[in-house]
Formats: sequence, C-alpha cells, structure tokens
Amino acid sequence: MKILFILFMLIASLYSNEKKNLTLQLSWLNQFQFAGYYIAKEKGFYKDVGLNVTLNELNNKIELVDMIKEEKADFAIGRSSLLLDKINGYDIVALGAIFQHSPLMLLTTNEEIKTISDFKNKKIMITPDAKFTASIMAMLNSNGIYKEHVNMITHSFNINDLINKKTDLMASYISNEPILLQEKGIKYKIFHPKDYGFDFYSDILFTSSKFIKNNPTTTKNFYEASLKGWEYALKNKAETAEIIYKKYNSQNKSLINLIKEGEILEKLIINENDNKIGCLDRTKLEKTLDVFRILGLTKEKLDLDSFIYEDNHHKKIVYELDYQQRNLLIMLIIFMTIIFILIIYFLKRIHDKKNLLNAVINTSDDLIYYKNQNLKYIGCNDAFKKLANKTENEIIGKDDFEIFDKKYAQIFRENDLKVLKSKELIIQEEWFEIDNKMLLFQSKKRPLKCMGAQIGILGVSRDITSLYETQKKLEEQATMDELTKVYNRKSFNQRLKEKVELFKRYESYFCIALFDIDDFKLVNDNYGHDIGDKVLIEVCEIAKQHIRNTDLLFRVGGEEFIILYPKTLIDEAYLSIDKIRNLIKCTTIIENHPITVSVGLTQIHKNDDEESIFKRIDDLMYQSKRTGKDKITVD
Ligand code: GH3
Ligand code: MG
Ligand code: MG
Repeated sequence: MKILFILFMLIASLYSNEKKNLTLQLSWLNQFQFAGYYIAKEKGFYKDVGLNVTLNELNNKIELVDMIKEEKADFAIGRSSLLLDKINGYDIVALGAIFQHSPLMLLTTNEEIKTISDFKNKKIMITPDAKFTASIMAMLNSNGIYKEHVNMITHSFNINDLINKKTDLMASYISNEPILLQEKGIKYKIFHPKDYGFDFYSDILFTSSKFIKNNPTTTKNFYEASLKGWEYALKNKAETAEIIYKKYNSQNKSLINLIKEGEILEKLIINENDNKIGCLDRTKLEKTLDVFRILGLTKEKLDLDSFIYEDNHHKKIVYELDYQQRNLLIMLIIFMTIIFILIIYFLKRIHDKKNLLNAVINTSDDLIYYKNQNLKYIGCNDAFKKLANKTENEIIGKDDFEIFDKKYAQIFRENDLKVLKSKELIIQEEWFEIDNKMLLFQSKKRPLKCMGAQIGILGVSRDITSLYETQKKLEEQATMDELTKVYNRKSFNQRLKEKVELFKRYESYFCIALFDIDDFKLVNDNYGHDIGDKVLIEVCEIAKQHIRNTDLLFRVGGEEFIILYPKTLIDEAYLSIDKIRNLIKCTTIIENHPITVSVGLTQIHKNDDEESIFKRIDDLMYQSKRTGKDKITVD
C-alpha cells in the first residue's frame, strides 16, 4: 500500500510541477496563419488540459529561436530554417509542421515575366537572409538563375511597391498578397517553389528539449490541444475568420479576406497522404537539408531524431484520444498497476505460506502424501521420498504400482478406493517391508478437497512398529512363563496368528520348531521335582542364548517348547535347532544324565492356518519320539 501511495503521489507531483501558464510566440502579426492557436484558446481546448496560453504577435526584432533560448517564450513558430539553427547549436525540438508546404513564393505583376528564365536582370524584393529564402533560391538556381543574374532589393513588405513597379518580383505569402491584388483587380503570376520540386515545411511549432524534459505532459497537452484547434479552424473557417476578425485583427483585415486566407492555407496545411495535421516526415526534412547543403548554407549532418518531437511519430494514436479518454487511460494504467502489485503481493504471500507449509511437512517424520482422483501422486514430503527411495520427479504423476512392490501397491490401492468411496477419514494399519524388516504403519487417509469438490486423497502414515513391539512385549510379559521366563502358550497363540496373517498378506514366510524333553518323567522321578525345574530353566537358557533377536521362544507345555523363526528358510532353521538340540545334550545339567530333546520342524505352507501348522509340528515331533527320540523330523 505504501508503494502504491508513493507511486500515486509521484505521478501527481510530477505533473503538478509542470508549467501551466504558457507563451506562444507567433511568427508574424495576427492573421489566419495562426488560426488553430486562436481557436484552441477561444474554444477552451488549452483550458481543458489545464493550460493558460498567451499568444504573442511578432512585434520586435528578436529571432524566434532566441526567444526560446532565452525562455522569453515557451513555444514558437519557425520555418524549415530551424534545421540550420539546430545544426548551429540551438536547442530546438520541432513538435509539428502546421504547414506541410511553405506559403512563401515569388509574386509578379510584370506581364513580361512568364518563366523563371525571364527573371534575368529583374528586381526581386526579398529578405536578405538566405536561410529564409532557401526554397526560392533553390527554385531560381535549378532554373539557371543565380544571384548575379538578378537585382535583389530589400523587402519593404509593402504590396504597393510591386503594384507601382518598384520591383518586378516580390517574395510573398501565397495567403496574403495575392488576395490584396485580387481585391484591386490586378493580374499577377505566382512562382511557387513547391511547383518546382522545392517543397519545404513551414510554420513549424517548436520548443526546446530542455522545456520538454521539464514539462513533458504540458508539452504533449499543448501540442495536442493546438492540433485540435487547427482541426476545428479548418472545419469551421467562416466561424474562425469571424473570431480572428473580432478579437485578433491587428492588421485590420476584412472578414472576407480572412476567409479567403483560410481557404488558401487549408491546402498547405492538409497532408495529402494521411489527412492529418502537423506531420513531420523524415525524408522530406532530409531533402530540405540537401537543398541547404547545395546552397552552401551548411555542410553538417543533423540527427533528425533529436529534432523531431517523439510524439509527432505517434500522433495518429495519441491524437485520437481526447483529454477525458487520456485521463481514463491513465486511471486504467494506475488501476492495472495496483492490480499487478496486489497480485505480486498475494503471490508472494502464497509463496511464503507454501514455503512455510513445506518446511512444516518436511520436518515431520510421518509420511505425508497426496494423490489425485486417479490415485497418482501430486505431492509428498521428504519422509515419504526417503521411504520410497525416490526423488520427487520419480513420484509425482506416478501411482503406487509404479513406485512400490505390487503386493503393497495392491493394499494401498484398496484402502485408497475405500476413502474415495466413503468420502470420509479412514484409519488403517498397513505392514510394509523395508530393508528386510517389516514395519507397521498407521495410515490416516481423507478426501482432499478444493473449493468443496473432492480432488483426491490426503494421507498421513506413521511408523508405529516400535509402539506395536512395545505393546506386544508388555502383553507378552503378562503372558510370560513364571518358571522359565520365556513366553507362554497364550503368547505363542497370538504371535502365530499374527505371523500367519502377515504370510497371507505379504508372503512373509517363517519356520517353527517344537521340541519336547525326552523321558522327563524319569528326571522328576529319579532326581526330584526341583531338579526337574532346574532342567527346564537350563534348557530354556541354552535355547535363548542361541537364537537371534528376532526369533521367539515359547514354553507351550510342561516340557514342550517352540521356537518361532520369522523370515527364515527351513535349512537355516534346521541348523539353528540342531545346534540347540546338540548343546542341550552336551551340557551337563544333571551329572551323568544327558538331557535330550525330540524336535519337529516345519515352514509355513501356502494354505496353512494356526491349527494346521501346529498340528503338523506336533505330529513331526511325535514322529521323532516314535523313531528313537533325540532327533529332528522335518516335513
Ligand atoms: P517322553 O519322552 O515321551 O516325552 O516322556 P516324558 O516322560 O518326557 O513325558 P511325559 O508326558 O510322560 O511326562 C512329562 C512329565 O513332565 C510329567 C510331569 O510331571 C512333568 N512336568 C510337567 N511340568 C513340570 C514342571 O513344571 N516341573 C517339573 N519338575 N516337572 C514337570
Ligand atoms: Mg517329554
Ligand atoms: Mg511332553
């Protein structure tokens, strides 16, 4: 919000600092030649854009370019000679050329003069400054007439000198003197440089680059309002002439003459190509510069980019927008900027929130993952990636079958479908094997929603293996055999049930060995019950010490024991139980009375349940008894 406020204040303050009271220096006395500016002032076009413009007639001898240089005027009207002034170091920027063709021409009332070659030895009344008369001189030169062929005399600006033959030819404005001659009924002939290929711009509205830099909006507004004035003046010549007649008639011209002047000037103002006012064409300016060079007025080149006001090129676009439309456009730009900043602001907040959320979910040891309606992963946390041992790219867009073993993927899929169907939170426990170890996960899965619509599933799975093991151990301790401190029959039943289930789900195979002390009754009978107890304790001790941590020992009867070997193949289990059998036999528990055991050993079969496997192991053990004891029978 601060940035927006500063931006707004900046735009407002920049424009408010610009100059609003302006002076336009005209290049002659009031006449239709400056109609557009009178209209812009009188019709309020300047006022509409917040400008107060003073129009000054030319009533002193100061050069117009100096008026701008010395900041006595903000804008002025010049001729094509501005190009030379620019070359000579004046800071000049041409906003637009109101006259597409210069009105300057040579006028004669001498009937002997029919072509330019007839000028020889004739008097021409013309201003001495070559740069202002370049187009005329070029016209003469190109027709073989040079300075030395004619008699150039100082301009009196008095048409009577032409009428009275004080001069043969007079440099005149096509919009002024011919009208006066017509009025008097005097025949005349015009030699217009334009008709001889020397077509210069005139009445170029200009200022300095310094002024534009300090007052960019004012310059643009002033230029556009002036053009608008010109458009109006040309469309309403009679009304315009009347305004000049009433308010700007310092030359005391008649209304009809002002209208005539307007009609003649219109032809010079309108650009035949695009019907627009003010256009500055680079090629035409280059041609003018060429003429200046040929006439020896300069040798330099000029960078026209710095001469032509940049908005002159885009005039068509800008000109079509009036003041209100432009204000609307500015408001729209400010509005769009605000929207843009707000979007950036909210995107950043979302980004920050996303980062925070990512940090939180990645810190969790729980597996967090989300899938779409097709059960393809759309996201997961670091713990999940670690468990899957895959990168994010290997997970996103994939389903469980592409990531995990088929047997787990199948179970995950079943649970996911349950969530999608029920649309409710479902909590399940799922076993998962990693690094040869079975882990138990508690998974909470719920539908993932966006704007009320279900878009997939969110899952959080927690490894509860150690919790489960602890619980089991606590339960087992409650079911521990008092005498031998090994698990009892009840504990065995629970464990067997669990192992059978795991086998059915995940093919997690196991072996069990049942062993029974041979002729134990005799021990009791011969050495007493206490020694019998000691034998039971010792046998358990030997077995306990020679099984792995993951193997489990149970006392399932008086002198009957079971070892459960998870994830163990029969050959491995055989080696283990055979070693135990031998150790029991070789250990002197009772002097001169070796203790032997008979063993039945089996691995879980495909269609086994708890009963079938127990029955088989029992049968195998009795087979050992029947066939001589102190041995192992394997199925
Ligand atoms: P077999 O070789 O066929 O197994 O013969 P056995 O004598 O070992 O088998 P039998 O079933 O005939 O006898 C088992 C004996 O174990 C009977 C019982 O008194 C004894 N016994 C059972 N529990 C305990 C106990 O906790 N302590 C003691 N000291 N003896 C027990
Ligand atoms: Mg026995
Ligand atoms: Mg027995």
